[in-house]
Amino acid sequence: MVKIIIIGSGIGGSGIGALIAKETSHEITLFEQNELLGGRCASYKKKDDQGRTWIFDIGCHIFSTCDKGPLGNILDRVGKSLQWSYTQNPGPRVVVMGMDLSRTTRSKKRRKRVEQKSAKPNFNEMMKNMTLEDTKKIDNISLTDFLDEFFGKGKAAVKKMMYGMQAGVMFGVAPHACSAGEFVRCFGDNAKQMSMGYPHGGTGAIPEAYCQVIEENQGKIIKGQEGRVEKIIVENGAVKGVITGPNKTFHEADIVIANSDIKTTVLRLVGESNFSSEYVKYVKDLQWGGQVCSLKVGVDKVITDQKMLTYVPTFSDDDMKKRFTSLVDEGFEVDSENMTVPEKTVLLVGF
Ligand SMILES: Cc1cc2nc3c(=O)[nH]c(=O)nc-3n(C[C@H](O)[C@H](O)[C@H](O)COP(=O)(O)OP(=O)(O)OC[C@H]3O[C@@H](n4cnc5c(N)ncnc54)[C@H](O)[C@@H]3O)c2cc1C
Repeated sequence: MVKIIIIGSGIGGSGIGALIAKETSHEITLFEQNELLGGRCASYKKKDDQGRTWIFDIGCHIFSTCDKGPLGNILDRVGKSLQWSYTQNPGPRVVVMGMDLSRTTRSKKRRKRVEQKSAKPNFNEMMKNMTLEDTKKIDNISLTDFLDEFFGKGKAAVKKMMYGMQAGVMFGVAPHACSAGEFVRCFGDNAKQMSMGYPHGGTGAIPEAYCQVIEENQGKIIKGQEGRVEKIIVENGAVKGVITGPNKTFHEADIVIANSDIKTTVLRLVGESNFSSEYVKYVKDLQWGGQVCSLKVGVDKVITDQKMLTYVPTFSDDDMKKRFTSLVDEGFEVDSENMTVPEKTVLLVGF
């Protein structure tokens, strides 16, 4: 029997764990350094002073393709289902710099007239129709340049702002630092599927369902202090296992799958000496994404029937650049290792 160790219970680690658990008879052990499962997609429950239970999401707040994308695909394959709420009917309502870009505010007739008048296909249609090969050709072009090329330099400022903001929300980077190819691959898929939304039970419902599958298929999940992997042991180019927890316990493995970030995995857990200098340089040169300050507020009465409201105030191009700054640009050293321990993790108030 093949022994597989997975480091991390984020959607990446728990998702791959669920697939292996369901589709093979390999022995799986998943290690998670936090008490909470799910990484940046985790949720937890808390009671308020009136005894009502609220679900708080740690990071994610919305999913681009829900059940029709990769997350739903894994759920299907492992035989789990979740209930999803799409951001439609009515909605989404999007007001950017004073302009209402909502689908709901335009009649079908008017949309058709606008489309017929325009000689160019609309940007969403273009993204939907681009082949994978074509998206790869624009991998090294920035989203800013790509938008300028499509809409014209100095034109369609609001639309460019809207797509630029989506890069910020989804990838955590400014449009000038976002690969146009990656953007089109992700958003083309979103535009095709039209299934953006949120799972009932909080974002954590997804990794929790994956972890359930691991345990239902005799896999083990070890979390908290004991679940913290200190080192991945590699000898003569082959993985031997991992060392975990305060007592530095050795766990043997034939395969180790690391869901910790690439810098931590390569530079700390495995160690530079096990990789080519070129690859180590590539990893060291990778930069952390931007920073977002976000507050989620739970309300206990219905205040709108819209499933998603987006409002962006008016600001200039220069202002936008300033709004997207990276931690590294500001001289911060990002210590990913310590950012994930419970007392230092950023918590967002959510519902
Ligand atoms: C504030 C915020 C908002 C976001 N909003 C959205 C959104 O709305 N929609 C969206 O699609 N995406 C969003 N994202 C991005 C999304 O959350 C991530 O892309 C996704 O959750 C990452 O999953 P992952 O499995 O790759 O990694 P992670 O969730 O980071 O999982 C890695 C796991 O590995 C564990 N780990 C790391 N090192 C070790 C170790 N040595 N030993 C044991 N365990 C270890 C960590 O504790 C963690 O649980 C958001 C992210 C943040 C931070």
